[in-house]
Formats: sequence, structure tokens, C-alpha cells
Amino acid sequence: MALIIGAECMTCGICIEECPNDAIQESGPAYVIDPELCTECVGSFDEPQCVKVCPVDVIIRDPHHSESHEDLLEKEKRILDNRDPYL
Ligand code: SF4
Repeated sequence: MALIIGAECMTCGICIEECPNDAIQESGPAYVIDPELCTECVGSFDEPQCVKVCPVDVIIRDPHHSESHEDLLEKEKRILDNRDPYL
């Protein structure tokens, strides 16, 4: 399941730096998480890093993007396989 940033986001930007998949981007007055890139940090960390650092606790699971643990591991593998090794 990908995560989603709630409307109460105060756009501090801390989460952007912590995401291992570059899934969080600024979009107008708020930040958004790309569900194609969010793995809930499965395969990289024990817990979602954006949730861990968010000072206002507005990052939650997105019920519209439900995925199993295995799905998330597969997604993580796809992201790593497609990453430019020179970046
Ligand atoms: Fe990025 Fe992890 Fe947050 Fe998903 S849960 S947006 S992969 S930091």
C-alpha cells in the first residue's frame, strides 16, 4: 500500500530528504507521494521514513493503493533494477 500525504501538510520538506525512492515531490502548495514509487520503505527500512520524520503526522496509508508485503518487495526490486547506477 502506498502512502498519502494529508491536506494538513505544512510543506516543511523533511520527508523529501528521507525517502529512499524519491517518491515525494512538491506539487503546487502541497507535497504528493507517487504511488508507483512508494514501497512503504519495505526492503529499505523497518518503517516508512516519511512517517517517522513528519512533524505533524499527516502521512497515512492510501486505501486506494493496496499492496501486499510481497507486492511492495517486488516494486522495490523493480525500482532498484531501473535506477541509474551512475546517479
Ligand atoms: Fe518514500 Fe518510504 Fe515514505 Fe513511501 S513510505 S514515500 S518509499 S519514505
